[in-house]
Amino acid sequence: MTNGEAAQNEKEVIFHISKKDNFPDWFGEICRVAELADIRYGVKGFTPFLPWSVMTMELMFDILEGVLQRKGHLPMLFPTVIPESNLSRESHHVQGFTPQVFWISEFGDGEKLDERLALRPTSETAIYPMYSLWIRSWRDLPLKRYQRCTVFRSEVKSTRPFLRGREFLWIESHNVFATHEEAKAQVKEDLETTKEVVTDAFGVPTMVFRRTQWDKFPGGINTYAADTLMPDGKVLQLPSTHDLGDNFARAFDIKYINESNETVYAFQTCYGPAISRIYGALISVHGDDNGLRLPFKLAPYQVVIVPIFKGKSADDVIGYCQKVEKALRHAGLRVYLDSRDATPGWKYNYWEMKGVPVRVEVGQREVKQEKVVIFRRDLMKREIVALTGLAGKVQTVGRDYDSVLRAEAESRFENLVVDAATLGALEGVLDKGKIGRVQFCTTEADGLICAEEIKNKTGGEVRGTRIDVEESATGACIVCGKAAKAVVYVARSY
Ligand SMILES: [Zn+2]
Repeated sequence: MTNGEAAQNEKEVIFHISKKDNFPDWFGEICRVAELADIRYGVKGFTPFLPWSVMTMELMFDILEGVLQRKGHLPMLFPTVIPESNLSRESHHVQGFTPQVFWISEFGDGEKLDERLALRPTSETAIYPMYSLWIRSWRDLPLKRYQRCTVFRSEVKSTRPFLRGREFLWIESHNVFATHEEAKAQVKEDLETTKEVVTDAFGVPTMVFRRTQWDKFPGGINTYAADTLMPDGKVLQLPSTHDLGDNFARAFDIKYINESNETVYAFQTCYGPAISRIYGALISVHGDDNGLRLPFKLAPYQVVIVPIFKGKSADDVIGYCQKVEKALRHAGLRVYLDSRDATPGWKYNYWEMKGVPVRVEVGQREVKQEKVVIFRRDLMKREIVALTGLAGKVQTVGRDYDSVLRAEAESRFENLVVDAATLGALEGVLDKGKIGRVQFCTTEADGLICAEEIKNKTGGEVRGTRIDVEESATGACIVCGKAAKAVVYVARSY
């Protein structure tokens, strides 16, 4: 590359968009410039994901699956297609999902299938008929399984890479228990897993709600979901977990012989962390006006080494960089030595925009002094350190970097919830990008009328009731004025 070309590229990688003021542009541009996804595929809602996002999502899967397996869930893999007759066995479930289902009705040269096949929108109706064959006695329980796959939903809302697509990457965990108490304990465990993985490991803060009856998983008893806050003040649902009671067991005939030799229905739960969506939240929450800031745990490259040389010093500097690379790799770090033909300045901008946590800069002076310069993407600061003990130093910096990212993300949750007594006041709260806490008549199905009034007047959605804090309703419903029976949270959402 000539100097002219390098200079031209240099312009291209200087990313600067205000994330707070112009989030949709920020998100679209970072997907394009950082090469995360390519929206030119040509089928609405279907998007190729590129190496820089896929490598991080693979790491996210590894962390989540590690936690699931430690808690006794084992992997399996079901077919993508579900016969129509399976899908219609649970009536609420079929009503809830049918509008979103993609169907296969023919093959080859227009030959019709005997029965239509659905591309799985979620796999209860694929998996549970098999569970009914596999489960015989109390000794087969609990059965805790999960699969890592993509699912297909014909989303009607506008689609966006990672955040809302018609095919997305997730893990779905499907569990069967002898009693409802054990199933409820699993729901609690799932919420702890969400905290352990999404909040603690990925640094994305969440608030957990029990969804209202009109907003729960179709066919289930209760849905619990974690919402995070996006930079534009809207909330995004991250993993949800569902107490299915024995509703699906009755529909799919999942029975077992208990210790008293009686045949009884089992109880079930399912949990669905969508990795591609969590990735969308991750980059949005941690990114800044200069581009991505990937957590050290999840960055495809944790460290990039940039050699700085003129003419004859090249061999010395490159040789020293290779030594640095070897030492860091030996310590288990993900390292890339950027020896491409471009200026150091261009490389700095490029890797800052790509969100690499730590950069190591090496010039003639560092070679002579057996040192390196390290640069942190979170603080945008340089430090000179010795080559001896460099790997340990980078590990320490990495841990500190992750806690800085997490603390910054959590600070946006402070003072986020504001009480509102009237619809006008609630609208004001939502306009500020905050979450409104209101007195509400009921979270049962008939509360939907008041929820729709809130939606029409303020654009906010009722996200449900908090489960981590004890709250009792007082006074009157913010909409209809009837005696309040619940304290609910209202936010604008994706
Ligand atoms: Zn009401």
